[in-house]
Amino acid sequence: MKIIMLGAPGAGKGTQAKRIAKKYSIPHISTGDILRANVKGETELGKKAQVFMNQGLLVPDDLVIDMLMDRIGQADCEKGYVLDGFPRTIPQAESLDAALAGLGEKMDFAIDVDVPDENIVKRMGGRRACVNCGATYHVEFNPTKTEGICDACGEKLILRDDDKPETVQKRLDVYHDQTQPLIAYYEKAGILNTVDGTQNMEDVFESIVQILGA
Ligand code: AMP
Repeated sequence: MKIIMLGAPGAGKGTQAKRIAKKYSIPHISTGDILRANVKGETELGKKAQVFMNQGLLVPDDLVIDMLMDRIGQADCEKGYVLDGFPRTIPQAESLDAALAGLGEKMDFAIDVDVPDENIVKRMGGRRACVNCGATYHVEFNPTKTEGICDACGEKLILRDDDKPETVQKRLDVYHDQTQPLIAYYEKAGILNTVDGTQNMEDVFESIVQILGA
């Protein structure tokens, strides 16, 4: 089962993608996580990507497409995967479709987690990420057991640069401009499903499971 998660930054698609991965035993592939790991490891890709990420801009398509193709070619992706944060532009979607078509495959589901902008701004200011393992939490909607400490690995939590208020508005503008057109793209492809992302996390997940099948 090959799934794409769509939705504005902060819509909760990452949280849902992780749960989907667990339930259906497929890898969760977050291009944001892979890019952050490259930034942390100070790789060539990381150095190039960081400049864009810190400003709330998208990393150029060619860098991200190569990185994603490499990842979905790995052995654990044979039975499918859930993509979180990719594609983010029409050229990325077209490259993905072309690569899959070359293998005689196609995407099965695109799930749009729909949340209005005003809710997003409120959510992202409360988001916290682990400096070590990348796990994300929310001070109000998904708090850790101990404030400021990651439940998964015990390291410190931070407000990521790209979740700071000045960057959030920029990321939303970029989303509307470059990523939202993918909704029409996947609707045309006949695989679009929309869930109401303003529901609580459990209900959003339930709605997704109804689409994917138990
Ligand atoms: P995310 O964790 O998915 O919100 O991604 C964080 C940042 O990484 C984004 O604001 C972009 O700068 C970059 N990024 C992640 N995925 C992509 C992508 N598919 N295309 C371009 N940039 C991306």
